[in-house]
Amino acid sequence: MKIVNKPFGLLPSGKTAYLHTISNSNGMEVSITNYGGIVTSINVPDGKGKTYDAVLGFDTLDEYLTDISYFGCIAGRYANRIANGHFTLNKKEYKLTINSAGHHLHGGVLGLSRQIWETEKFENNDEAGIKLSYVSKAGEEGYPGNLSVTVCYVLGQENALSIHYVAETDKATIINLTNHSYFNIGNPETTDILGQTLQINADSFVVAGKDLIPTGEIRKVDGTPFDFRKPDIIGKRINDPYEQIATAGGYDATFVLNSPGTLKGPSAVLCDDETGRMMEVYTTEPGLQFYTGNFLKGAKGKVGRIYSKYSGLCLEAQHFPDSPNHPNFPSTILLPDQQYSQTTIYKFSAAK
Ligand code: BGC
Repeated sequence: MKIVNKPFGLLPSGKTAYLHTISNSNGMEVSITNYGGIVTSINVPDGKGKTYDAVLGFDTLDEYLTDISYFGCIAGRYANRIANGHFTLNKKEYKLTINSAGHHLHGGVLGLSRQIWETEKFENNDEAGIKLSYVSKAGEEGYPGNLSVTVCYVLGQENALSIHYVAETDKATIINLTNHSYFNIGNPETTDILGQTLQINADSFVVAGKDLIPTGEIRKVDGTPFDFRKPDIIGKRINDPYEQIATAGGYDATFVLNSPGTLKGPSAVLCDDETGRMMEVYTTEPGLQFYTGNFLKGAKGKVGRIYSKYSGLCLEAQHFPDSPNHPNFPSTILLPDQQYSQTTIYKFSAAK
């Protein structure tokens, strides 16, 4: 196991961002910057020993500074949307920064994805990783409570990237953290993810209406294009007239996972037949946001590749969008005597 650190670039504030590259002896190498906790690359081998990058992103810090698609970052304090940036907690009303069509998205304009995090590294024979820490001050982007967050990225000898999130607050607040990597496990010439196969262990999904805000309804996947209980080709139903697909221009929905809280079996499995590469997602979270990059608009990414609609997909383990305004959704409230924690694992393998 090995970690190599190098400067990644300078922020306008004069702070330096670093890039930490963790590698194991089975050919997997993950790079993470302490700017926004962004995973900038995940190099993993296919069954024939050829290694490719499995995530979208950029070559330089400057490109991440102006990115609007949240490539690889830690999204928070509240990943996904809060309707009108408004919620009530302990009878007090809170107004969050509005940054997406009248709503609050991914923690606001200067959310966790836009901050420099303190970094500690750790390594031993079996695993190596970095622990990122950030204190979000009370009032930042409108959220109550001083929130201390740590996120550990850990690589072991199995080709799995584990992400452990922990947070504490000094006043009742809301929290929903996730990683926003866009994956494409095909070979580097693959321009989109439509031919890849996905399975999601979810019997239901969160119904979203205008502006992708949940209506409050949880609907069975039976007979809908959201039925991924058996492995299916992503592109097969992506142009389905079903309302929630048509309005989102593809998949952009929260799947209600069947066995949240356990890391025993995968909640999702993504396969690419051509390279034989596979990625399994394990999580303690109740939901999985499956997003097919519908809003990607041709950004120039790593090694000059153009990222447009469907170039990559996100499988974001998290709570449901807008939970503070839906009492029937699992709670996202964090109290001062509690600890928030979530673990998500992205495990890679390849058929020989
Ligand atoms: C959301 C999309 C949003 C995207 C922004 C995803 O997590 O589900 O609705 O547009 O993030 O990059």
